[in-house]
Amino acid sequence: MERRSFRDDLDAAIAFHGHLCGGQIIGTRIARFALDYFGAYDTEKKPDLLAFVEADRCLADAISVVAGLTLGKRRLKWMDYGKMAATFYHIGTGEAIRLHTADIRPSDDVVDKVAFYEAIPDSELIIVEQVEVHLRPEDLPGKPKSTVVCAICGERVHDGREVVREGKPICRACLGEPVCRPVYYTRQEAGSPTKASKPAV
Ligand SMILES: [Zn+2]
Ligand SMILES: [Zn+2]
Repeated sequence: MERRSFRDDLDAAIAFHGHLCGGQIIGTRIARFALDYFGAYDTEKKPDLLAFVEADRCLADAISVVAGLTLGKRRLKWMDYGKMAATFYHIGTGEAIRLHTADIRPSDDVVDKVAFYEAIPDSELIIVEQVEVHLRPEDLPGKPKSTVVCAICGERVHDGREVVREGKPICRACLGEPVCRPVYYTRQEAGSPTKASKPAV
């Protein structure tokens, strides 16, 4: 597999993310470093990697695109730390590295920020930590390892995310960690989607 250039990877990240920003530049650099580290460019196939990104910001999109690790394939894990760092974990060997960058930023008068960062070698820009990752089997890619039905809402819960209370599986939303709360509730007939309307009071 021919190695893509930094500019090609950056262009792919920008096309997905929607704009050029520091996060795309740094994210592209970090993802390429990780792919190099794990030998992604030595073989036809990408290595069996997962990435843990530590913020839901620009950097995460670049890592996802450049390393080909997506949330929907369970290869991108989001840790809500608000930090511009990512850990790459090799499923086959268990080896993991956490990457972030030295606090080097272009001054406001630097026009070409891509060229600014391109001139800084990895050895000066990227900080590498050897880390341990404890991954549960239910966090790995592949089909759901388990599916249960929540005893309160009746919805299906995959991959051991339920909590058992008095012998019954309960989803975390029903346990008081809701991502949303219903304002009103309508049950729709299967196959006949209709717009829910607010019940008359
Ligand atoms: Zn951005
Ligand atoms: Zn529930």
